[in-house]
Amino acid sequence: MSDRRISRMRLHVVDIPAKAVHSHGSGDVSGIASVLCELVTEDGLSGWGEASPWPVFTGTREAATAALHTHLRPLVIGQDPVCVEPIMTQADRQLVGHPEAKAALECALLDLTGQIAGLSIAELMGGRQRDHIPLSFSIANPDFDADLRDVAQLWDDGVRIFKLKTGFADHAFDLMRLERLRQLYGDEVRLRIDYNQGLKAYDAIRHVRDLEVFRPDFVEQPVRAFEREVMAEITRAVDVPIMADESVFDARDALRGAHGRIADIFSLKIAKSGGIRRCLDVAAIARAAGIGIYGGCMFETSIGHMAGAQLMAAVPELTLGCEFYMSTYYAEADLAMTPFPVRAGQVQVPATPGLGTAPDPGRLATYRVGILE
Ligand code: MG
Repeated sequence: MSDRRISRMRLHVVDIPAKAVHSHGSGDVSGIASVLCELVTEDGLSGWGEASPWPVFTGTREAATAALHTHLRPLVIGQDPVCVEPIMTQADRQLVGHPEAKAALECALLDLTGQIAGLSIAELMGGRQRDHIPLSFSIANPDFDADLRDVAQLWDDGVRIFKLKTGFADHAFDLMRLERLRQLYGDEVRLRIDYNQGLKAYDAIRHVRDLEVFRPDFVEQPVRAFEREVMAEITRAVDVPIMADESVFDARDALRGAHGRIADIFSLKIAKSGGIRRCLDVAAIARAAGIGIYGGCMFETSIGHMAGAQLMAAVPELTLGCEFYMSTYYAEADLAMTPFPVRAGQVQVPATPGLGTAPDPGRLATYRVGILE
């Protein structure tokens, strides 16, 4: 228990345009549309979290905002912010689904708890296993020449991992891009592939087999989220590891996915699981089943990224790095007071108390399109 009480919840609705359109097997995205949850204590401490849903993937910002404003607000006003699990258990009881809203709430609570305790969120989660996490950048521009220019610049910055978004154009375009990147960067580049559910079940295996010659680290979510049996068939049929993203949201999905062996790797996302602690449940199931894990993200600001970085700093085994590149390389601006820490192709996890970042008030005001108190 602490002697602090939460007195306000402020919801900041933000729109940040992207530098370029990104295309995926499940649709195009042209910016970050999220809602930031700020919890304020009576004595003026602020804790931050972010909900950044993608309608074709998780849900809508409107639903996340309404969930926080109408249903989750009454659970935290007047509460002690260090009672994180009791509040989140209540949230799960009173509101079905809405994992993005719950993730934002939990992050803001953990940010306050960390500030009160003088510990980073990774330390609150059991301690830092690592200070930096290898960063992957996603190549998803329909204009591949523009992507090649970005890759060249990121290569100079020390980024060596690139994830190709595939399945939004034709198969030949995907093969051409992979071949080109292997030619240009040789064995030093690590390539990954993400279909975002873009393949048809009946010929997915043939498509995936065609890509294996380019030696990708993994192929992510080749078919639709609910086609778990097809995911399992593909996993059995090909040599390249298969990753489940849209098919595994929470611990129940993870358990089912591990039993059915639907993938070799799970992509962890706070927004899918409903918070950092729920994500650690998914990680624990993966570890018990010998399934690898990866730090995925939504189209989000540094606030969401930092929550992911704190999680990935604390997980016992980190197999494949993370993709927290949006605020540095995708968005027109980084909302945070200090830029999201990326150095030499690695996310540097801050050791400061709490989340380790907060929005800059000026930039927040520039990109804010609505506020609810
Ligand atoms: Mg994905």
